[in-house]
Amino acid sequence: MYYNEETVIFFNGQFIKAKDASANLYSQSLHYGNGVFEGIRAYNTTEGARVFKSYEHYKRLKFGAEVMNIQLDYSEEELTQITYELLERNGLKDAYIRPLVTTGVDMSLLTSKETNLVIQCWEWGKYMGDKLLRVKTSSFQRPNPKSCFVEAKVTGHYTNSILSTNEAKNNGYDEALLLDMNGNVAECSGANVFMEKDGKLYTPPRGHIMAGITRATVMDLCKEEGIYIEEKHFTLEELKTADACFFTGTAAEVVGLQSLDDYQFPLAWEKSQGHKLMKLYKDEVLGLRQKRKAS
Ligand code: PMP
Repeated sequence: MYYNEETVIFFNGQFIKAKDASANLYSQSLHYGNGVFEGIRAYNTTEGARVFKSYEHYKRLKFGAEVMNIQLDYSEEELTQITYELLERNGLKDAYIRPLVTTGVDMSLLTSKETNLVIQCWEWGKYMGDKLLRVKTSSFQRPNPKSCFVEAKVTGHYTNSILSTNEAKNNGYDEALLLDMNGNVAECSGANVFMEKDGKLYTPPRGHIMAGITRATVMDLCKEEGIYIEEKHFTLEELKTADACFFTGTAAEVVGLQSLDDYQFPLAWEKSQGHKLMKLYKDEVLGLRQKRKAS
């Protein structure tokens, strides 16, 4: 699904076949989860492949590397250029792009001096699908921001996302919603959350969540379209009185919720602000809004 005999990846400065690449079993990333990654999408637009918010994604990758003391010498511009070349070499226009920075052979708990950069890409539909999600409140919380850098996409952090997703799916739900250490709603295992009440939107502020690039895009779209949006903490009890709710993420894009535990969101998805934003987001990633503004 992710690669075949012909797939090309970028690995430590070279474009090589995925089937010819190998990783070291003594890598610190494999043993301790000390690595950083990104999830980016490219869209097939009338002007060809367009990597959406490439600079922002690579800025976040570099931020993660910096806080983990991992050396990454590429600039955002260089990484973007490599990404476009990689898409071209794989003949892909609509694609999911996965840059991953791993550390070297080192069993100490000090960041290894050796760094590996791999960029992979593959065709991937909307991660959480198109149907409305049935979500379970997780028994796992998002990590305490004093125990790690929650805004860095560190590979090891994702065991928290895996625990919550396993729990939700094993109980017959589609996805998990996690609270923060103070009991406020934080985010989904791999996406941010917005709730709608009386036509207004609310989303948790930064601090205990991933600073989602889709979240920021959706907030910008709200401002442009005159949709009320406020960053504020809210509890699970408040969320269970909301009219509607949706998740945002690069892989998931904008996806609505049908229910949270036993609570059914009462507003029809098609009538919600989330639905409107889902369509606006699609236009934005395809560059159609930019084009309209320019003409
Ligand atoms: N929260 C978590 C925990 C995530 O892993 C992601 C995916 N990066 C998001 C939110 C959404 O972020 P983005 O919109 O930048 O993909």
